[in-house]
Amino acid sequence: MAENDSVKPRPIVRFLAIPDDGDPYLEGHKCRSCGAIFLGSRETCSSCGTSGEIEATRLSNQGELYVYSIVHRSFPGIDVPYVSAIVDLEGGGTVKGNLINVEPDPEKIRMGMPVEVVYEIAPRKDAEGNEYLTYYFQPRS
Ligand SMILES: [Zn+2]
Repeated sequence: MAENDSVKPRPIVRFLAIPDDGDPYLEGHKCRSCGAIFLGSRETCSSCGTSGEIEATRLSNQGELYVYSIVHRSFPGIDVPYVSAIVDLEGGGTVKGNLINVEPDPEKIRMGMPVEVVYEIAPRKDAEGNEYLTYYFQPRS
């Protein structure tokens, strides 16, 4: 009997794609008419108004820090401080996520710094014990 019971983690957000073979990636939707890129699918381009021309596209794992904030208060059980960031990906797509592997110190973080997307199993499972794959940003060396 084939060993086939390794359960894949689930994506923590809809725009995280986990192919059967290959690495996970962030998936955006691109307007064929004007080239605008969005997270999440939609019928009509909010940039140019064209309908039915939106296709899924694989987003880059590299980008630049657009803006961030250091979070000092959060829900119980969430370690603080952490860095909440918005990143502009190369080639298009703006994604919010946490910036890791950097001190939560404004002296260490600058707007426009090069970052990359990394994928990790989320620290918590859901109530049914399912694992989730999540993503973070970290500084590019
Ligand atoms: Zn468009």
